[in-house]
Amino acid sequence: MLFSFPPNWPPRALAGLRVRLLNWFDKHQRDLPWRAATDGKRDPYRVWVSEVMLQQTTVAAVVPFFERFVAALPDVRALAAADEQRVLKLWEGLGYYRRARHLYAAARDLVRSHAGELPDDPAVWAALPGVGRYIMGAVLSQAFDRRLPIVEANSLRVLARLFAYRNDPRDGEGKAWVWSAAEAVLPAKRCGDFNQALMELGALVCKPAAPDCGNCPLAGHCEANRLGLQDQIPPKKKPLAITAVNEVGVVIRDGGTVLLCQRPADAGRWQNMWEVPHAPRADGEDVSAAARRVAQELTGLEVEPGTEVLTVKHGVTRYAIALVCVEAERVGGAFAPGAYAAAKWVTPAELAEYPVSAPQRKLMAALTDSNHQGRLF
Ligand code: SF4
Repeated sequence: MLFSFPPNWPPRALAGLRVRLLNWFDKHQRDLPWRAATDGKRDPYRVWVSEVMLQQTTVAAVVPFFERFVAALPDVRALAAADEQRVLKLWEGLGYYRRARHLYAAARDLVRSHAGELPDDPAVWAALPGVGRYIMGAVLSQAFDRRLPIVEANSLRVLARLFAYRNDPRDGEGKAWVWSAAEAVLPAKRCGDFNQALMELGALVCKPAAPDCGNCPLAGHCEANRLGLQDQIPPKKKPLAITAVNEVGVVIRDGGTVLLCQRPADAGRWQNMWEVPHAPRADGEDVSAAARRVAQELTGLEVEPGTEVLTVKHGVTRYAIALVCVEAERVGGAFAPGAYAAAKWVTPAELAEYPVSAPQRKLMAALTDSNHQGRLF
């Protein structure tokens, strides 16, 4: 049976929960760079950048990227005025580059249509690219204390356990339930702190495995704790079936340079970023034959494959990719755009200047690493 919300809690119990959680947050919150406030106010730009980075990425991974990004682009005008390649370069290594492109496009919209202001206005935020309910609630509640809920993996888990919601709160009706729960528990003031407190409790105490109920400020309110159902709520996600993919990447050389290709703006992934040409190998196709074919099909160049540089293993959604990279000499042809939007012959020193994906960065590091057996330069 579905659990309805709000539950039949006396208002005093809900008030007590809010006070306990906020007191705990005041004492235990982590010191994170985007939490800094001036005169009690937080900068909506910094909140926004941090929240976009934190989608799909852990706090520990985000901190250095955030610091580097806001040092280089300290406000929305600086972001809007930057070149997209610079934005992607600053994002390089964080993954999910679509987030960076949306952030950049939204900054340009804000400067063009709202004089570079980041207003306390849900209608403005809702119209920006990449801004969904979560980002809007996170920015407006934290920067302006607007009473808007947020739901992400940590707060979802805390809320489901707190009210012993047994269905899956990630889908359909469960999703609607968890958003209504997040809204109903919000206090009238300190909404941004309360939203963060729920997430922080999930990150530090109410963890997916072995929640520390003995040290939880909400233990006395928590239905899952009372019923001993912490391990069953929320239900575990079915693991994705992983498909193995064998790819070949071709480091095409011409004198002291290698060919870097730019992915087109409509590529499904890593749009406008740079890479050495790569593609899946056919069944039974050997690496040299695949390198020749891939170079020809993707760039129009004829190549003579040489030695293997390295194999980069990485995962993309449900694919486990083994990218075998070989060096190859250009022996004929000229670059023809099509699969790639553009290409450049670059020196080893220039490789670091281009925004590339994490697996391609590993390859490029190996090309110039004096300790690497397969280095070319
Ligand atoms: S009591 Fe346990 S299950 Fe309930 S919110 Fe706290 S840590 Fe999570």
